[in-house]
Amino acid sequence: MNKSHNLLGKPLQYLKGVGDVKAALFQRLGIFTIEDVITHYPRDYEDRSRLKKIIQLEDAQKVSFEGVIASKPVESRPRRGFVITRVSIVDETGLINAIWFNQPYLKNYFKKGEKYIFYGTITRKRTFEVLNPVYEKISESGPVNTCRIVPIYPSTGRLTQNAIRAVIRSALEYAGDELIEFLPEWICKEYNLVDSQFAIHNIHYPDSDNAFQRARERLVFEELLLLQLGLISLKSLPETDQPGIKFGAGKQVREFIQRLPFELTKAQTRVVAQIEQDMESGRVMNRLIQGDVGSGKTIVAVIALVKAVKSGYQGAFMAPTEILADQHYHSVKPMLERFGIRTALLTGSTSVKDAKGLLKDVSEGNVDVLIGTHALLEEKVVFMKLGLVITDEQHRFGVRQRAIISQKGENPDILVMTATPIPRTLALILYGDLDISIIDELPPGRKKVETYAVDEHMRERINKFIRKHVTQGRQVYIVCPLVEESDAVEAKSATELADELANKTFSDLRVGLIHGKMKSSEKESTMLDFVRGEMDILVSTTVIEVGVNVPNAALMVVENAERFGLAQLHQLRGRVGRGEHQSYCILFSDSKSQVARERMKVMEQTTDGFVISEKDLELRGPGDFFGTRQHGIPDMKIANLYKDMDVLKQAQEAALKLIENDRGLKLPQNQMLCQAIKEKFSKMANVISLN
Ligand code: ADP
Ligand code: MG
Repeated sequence: MNKSHNLLGKPLQYLKGVGDVKAALFQRLGIFTIEDVITHYPRDYEDRSRLKKIIQLEDAQKVSFEGVIASKPVESRPRRGFVITRVSIVDETGLINAIWFNQPYLKNYFKKGEKYIFYGTITRKRTFEVLNPVYEKISESGPVNTCRIVPIYPSTGRLTQNAIRAVIRSALEYAGDELIEFLPEWICKEYNLVDSQFAIHNIHYPDSDNAFQRARERLVFEELLLLQLGLISLKSLPETDQPGIKFGAGKQVREFIQRLPFELTKAQTRVVAQIEQDMESGRVMNRLIQGDVGSGKTIVAVIALVKAVKSGYQGAFMAPTEILADQHYHSVKPMLERFGIRTALLTGSTSVKDAKGLLKDVSEGNVDVLIGTHALLEEKVVFMKLGLVITDEQHRFGVRQRAIISQKGENPDILVMTATPIPRTLALILYGDLDISIIDELPPGRKKVETYAVDEHMRERINKFIRKHVTQGRQVYIVCPLVEESDAVEAKSATELADELANKTFSDLRVGLIHGKMKSSEKESTMLDFVRGEMDILVSTTVIEVGVNVPNAALMVVENAERFGLAQLHQLRGRVGRGEHQSYCILFSDSKSQVARERMKVMEQTTDGFVISEKDLELRGPGDFFGTRQHGIPDMKIANLYKDMDVLKQAQEAALKLIENDRGLKLPQNQMLCQAIKEKFSKMANVISLN
């Protein structure tokens, strides 16, 4: 839609019946202009279209019926502040009693002998009864609130549905004709979309079921297309048509894989094939590997590194923390070394002296693979021939950082790995610029982490369970949601809990504490103690969420588990079950809320990260779910990222075609579209690269 157009951009007060007071109520919903209100889409509909005779009414049915007020309304006040108004309604077939609570003005509103349409749920007692029905006097322009499919709008308490409907009705009458198509013609044709005017009218007042479906489809497409285009521009893609490196070394890769101590899983094999194909093509690879914790992403990365190095290039492998970089270095180096590949580690704790020699080696090509942290991004790190960049745990690295390291080579291929299971819909959006590979299979022989949701009654038994694990030589994580005690939220503080455990419950065991407010050097040294087995129980906040591998840890206890999202619980649980020991996850929760219980049940029933993330999305519902706000994605007005997967794919395809033909959307036929994107993303600071 186009704000330059006169009426659409006008404030709501231009409409009849909207004064400053009402306008202020709309503003709370983020609605300022006539266009805003027209694009305030219904969240639901009620079918009030079938008008019944009173004799046809059935118990528990929600229906519209027409009738004449048979007698003066009767009011009673059974107790203070409680008013009941009763009205008898008749038609030629029968009688029904309507009852309203606390609407005393109705006593003088309904006049004997007048005709109304009502809508509500029928109860059949001795006579028919209907509680708090919607009512509407029959006027010349026809009914708005009854007798049809009626929209239900998102609202705040003080704006009634009738008020919103009236304003939208009048906005549509006043300015509806000004809605002009802003999608390029070819898109509407190719994706078989109804035009903007049709869509808007029918989303509010559908002429038929089919019209509604078509309208919704169009608006969902439009919303997702704008989102996709906006994100692409946010990411300021590198030119996709830049020539990439054509890697070879297929033979050496086969050989490397054959010499591995295990066989690759089917999923790993498939992903390796996708990577090899990318690397051999002349295009720059931009690929995301999504794989659950323990699915074996590292080895896939190593294979890509082998391919790069054996083709005569260097590789960089970046991890978000020193502990992780260190772990990668120690597990990867021996594998590569056996194959004649020289590997080095660079982190913030590499001494200046060591770094100097190391950087020289890297710049002269005496190091083939450099593993490290953010330190790799520093200017002084210069490669001789960087061909492949791998980043682990993508969500910790921004797009910009990916770009910085890429610039250290000439269009190197890029591989991004993440263990955060993201629903496919969301991945398509967040990583719209990346091809996605999924490792959806764990190596054979893994024992499932047994998970139990328990309440406070089980505290003593769980404490015994903890002790039993430590006695057997295992280690235990206990995770709390907050760092400090707060009255507002009755969460357990990690600090207090650690004190209590260390001084009372487990005073004979080695209890450590780690939380987000500690200095990073403290965190690292505590973590290292745990990694080395010098600590039995580690009490922590969610700082352990990412990456750490302690195979001897076999028990994870989560306090106030209801305070964590599903995706987060899954990440936490992934810290155990990494060794040969049967592992357990105990979720403490006293919450009685439906959603909380549902979450606990999901955790007990499945360990599949993708199932869990889809479930997470479903339980949270559209508009409010994992990750979007952080990534600066605007709220969805109509699209449901859980259900509208098919449309999302189409919108993504259309977005790519558009960008291919007109980077920056500068062509005249794309101007209105460009404008619409800017408006949608206007609240976000840095929409770049579009004009
Ligand atoms: P993540 O995907 O969490 O990074 P890792 O790459 O650390 O997982 O792999 C977890 C463990 O599984 C490692 O010890 C690795 O050697 C092992 N592993 C990986 N692939 C296989 C396989 N195909 N068969 C057996 N073990 C494997
Ligand atoms: Mg990993």
